[in-house]
Amino acid sequence: MGSKICRICSETKPIEAFWRSKFGRGGFANECKECTKASKREYWKARPEQLLARRAKQRDLNAALREKYRKQHPERIAANDAFKRALQKGIVKKHPCWVCGEEKSEGHHADYKQPLDVVWLCRLHHRQAHALARELERKNADH
Ligand SMILES: [Zn+2]
Ligand SMILES: [Zn+2]
Ligand SMILES: [Zn+2]
Repeated sequence: MGSKICRICSETKPIEAFWRSKFGRGGFANECKECTKASKREYWKARPEQLLARRAKQRDLNAALREKYRKQHPERIAANDAFKRALQKGIVKKHPCWVCGEEKSEGHHADYKQPLDVVWLCRLHHRQAHALARELERKNADH
């Protein structure tokens, strides 16, 4: 362990220069990260129409996911819309993250029935709040 020879550029590189892979020897890919990146670039350069098709498909998928979310959680969308409008009009004021004080924060709804009642959280703490809420939901569902 420690280092590995790249199949493509034939250079001996430290093991960190290889992605983990269950297909490669010793649990690491046979080509280094650099070469993997380069070959992906080459691959897509040779197939521009496929790349475009793939991007379009991803876009459709994202739109479909958004639409699904919208249908499943209309109250969340409504709350967010009302909240955004209130923010624009200055009815609610932006605050730094309540946990760490980060200036770049987003309004988090603890209760979607109270659209203007939000907790201000930065990206990270916002994500943590949602993860926690999901976990609690799961725990409640178990009992
Ligand atoms: Zn290489
Ligand atoms: Zn924070
Ligand atoms: Zn939130």
